[in-house]
Amino acid sequence: MPVYQDCQRCTACCRWPGQVRLSEAEITRIAAFLQLSEHEFIQRYTRLQQDRRGLALQEKSDGACVLLHGDLCTIQPVKPQQCRDFPNLWKYPDAEKYCRAIPREVSADEYVRLVSAATQRTPEEVREILRHESQKL
Ligand code: SF4
Repeated sequence: MPVYQDCQRCTACCRWPGQVRLSEAEITRIAAFLQLSEHEFIQRYTRLQQDRRGLALQEKSDGACVLLHGDLCTIQPVKPQQCRDFPNLWKYPDAEKYCRAIPREVSADEYVRLVSAATQRTPEEVREILRHESQKL
């Protein structure tokens, strides 16, 4: 049975080291949500990705995402796909040490429905990703 990871909004993953990559469409959407021009948003909140092939969100000095205020993601309705995909479409070692998501065995159909809702991907997209990454379904 597939195991759905039910996020508890602890925000631990928003504080891990790493980078949140941004697509052009995400920059447009997030800037509009923050009522900034794209130029202002880029100047204020982004940096070059490590491979210099695009932009990523900046981090605060403690490593937390620049757009995390207290325990709140300030761009929750328009957050990047990379954030939406976590934890169910990510593979990461020792996940349970860091992530407080509650694992729940569900049917294959329910799994696709839940992951689709959490990630805002279509069920077809979710099935395609899972087909590539594992034999979960
Ligand atoms: S995905 Fe895990 S680490 Fe991130 S907020 Fe949810 S429970 Fe916490």
